Amino acid sequence: MAEEAKTAASELSGTGNFIHTAIQEDLGDNLTKIHTRFPPEPNGYLHIGHAKSICLNFGLAKLYGGKCNLRFDDTNPTKEDVEYVDSIKQDVKWLGFDWEDRLFFASSYFDTFYEVALKLIKEGLAYVCDLSAEEMRQYRGTLNAPGKQSPYRNRSVEENLDLFSRMKAGEFPDGSHTLRAKIDMASPNINMRDPVLYRIAHAHHHKTGDAWCIYPMYDFAHPLEDAIEGITHSICTMEFEDHRPLYDWVVAHSGLPAKPRQIEFARLSMTNTVMSKRKLRALVEEGLVDGWDDPRMPTISGLRRRGVTPEAIRDFCEKIGVSKAISKVDSSLLDYCIRDDLKAKTPVVMAVLRPLKVIIENYPEGQTELLPIENNPETASLGTRQVPFGRELYIEQEDFMEVPEKKFFRLSPGKEVRLKGAYFITCTGVDKDANGNITAVRCTYDPATKSGSGFEGRKVKGTLHWVNASTAVPITTRLYEAMLLDDPNDPNGDMVMNPNSLEELSSVAEPAVKEAKGGDRFQFMRNGYFCADTKDSTADHLVFNRIVALKSAYKPAK
Ligand code: ATP
Ligand code: MG
Repeated sequence: MAEEAKTAASELSGTGNFIHTAIQEDLGDNLTKIHTRFPPEPNGYLHIGHAKSICLNFGLAKLYGGKCNLRFDDTNPTKEDVEYVDSIKQDVKWLGFDWEDRLFFASSYFDTFYEVALKLIKEGLAYVCDLSAEEMRQYRGTLNAPGKQSPYRNRSVEENLDLFSRMKAGEFPDGSHTLRAKIDMASPNINMRDPVLYRIAHAHHHKTGDAWCIYPMYDFAHPLEDAIEGITHSICTMEFEDHRPLYDWVVAHSGLPAKPRQIEFARLSMTNTVMSKRKLRALVEEGLVDGWDDPRMPTISGLRRRGVTPEAIRDFCEKIGVSKAISKVDSSLLDYCIRDDLKAKTPVVMAVLRPLKVIIENYPEGQTELLPIENNPETASLGTRQVPFGRELYIEQEDFMEVPEKKFFRLSPGKEVRLKGAYFITCTGVDKDANGNITAVRCTYDPATKSGSGFEGRKVKGTLHWVNASTAVPITTRLYEAMLLDDPNDPNGDMVMNPNSLEELSSVAEPAVKEAKGGDRFQFMRNGYFCADTKDSTADHLVFNRIVALKSAYKPAK
């Protein structure tokens, strides 16, 4: 076994980042298989930052032939809920990862945590403290000044055991007592100054009900969870770097055989959005978005509803890489990954977002013909379809200008353009209503210019997409911009909701979209990638979310 792991490690050496290096160093005679975990707290829906952690933890396990657990870190009952547990499981699965039979809950280790606490008390390594939270803050000291010892620090083992069991029995109110580790009030690392291990909280827990009224603190519970599960590499974000000595202390005194190694990496942060469950929850609770899965949200469920694929998210997580330096990733990189994934596999059809009627005066009334158009110019195997063409069509309002500005090569009076897959048309005039608004554009077509007929007579500069009016399928399209914008007036650098983040349009599409179901994706020619909304589409009327536009400023590094 050891040999096999060593071979794997040496084959992979030079792969990836500092975490790979650490793991490759560790794999040897004593460590033959790695075991990681993804440990969300079920206090909200997962966001794309969590996807980075999921891809990293499950990805490392897969790469090195190890295992990765899904573990709910449910030690803080007041903020947690089963709704979040269910959504997190769904999201991890959808991203393409499998925890097999290793779904765990920290709350199922509550007895073990308690046993370890008793062991620490008996060894003189923990004591019950009666200081209030405020007093404890005063005693803690600062970065430059050592802390002061609690007056309760030297209680006898017997007294501590008695008080701790009474804490557990529910004799004391919230906040009156804590169990603290006895480490070093003068430590330069504040985390080591007798940190709290247990607090009293008379709160109902979504799994353990009212069985407990004392709950372990993260810094005590997390290393024990890892050790109980035999985790070899506990990968977490940078803010835990200063907690690592405490992590190691808890593991060392736990009496558990496993010795997990904590490794920190920089959390993902992205432009134009927030990456915090607490802030995202506030948007949901204030009704500023349509739930956790609003397509503007950076949540996994929001991205899924918008139409983003798991492949694109995994590619994004691969491309951003892993480092210790915190930097903001430009959200256009995600857009790039989305387009890159969709471009070859998504059917290309025509939809007009803001319709303007075109009447082709010399095309026979009542006639429609079917024109063959390829389903995806990049992927011949996706074949062709028949698109109806007739006397009345729709084009985009922005593809016509009555008085064209310079370099406007689309339709205007007297000008000729190509209709994609159909004919050349020339504008002969416009119809207007009583207020002078254009209600239709009049054109003639040249039958000799039919697409595919080999016509080479003359060149035109513009090619427009179009939808035949008599067979048009009315749809709703939703276009998005960044959900949040930096608030220049906020000294804390907080962000504000972008008032233009959602635009809803009455649009039309060719018949090819008619049978689409929620979740189906199309490229709407020249308009971007769209996905039929799973919540708001009905059998009679489809709502399409724009996943991403066709172009952005982002250029991938060569
Ligand atoms: P939030 O502040 O959004 O609630 P969290 O870190 O409190 O984030 P957890 O549920 O505790 O959320 O996170 C589960 C795992 O995901 C942790 O290992 C955490 O380090 C990781 N994680 C959370 N946010 C990010 C992020 N932005 N980038 C990378 N990993 C993250
Ligand atoms: Mg958290």
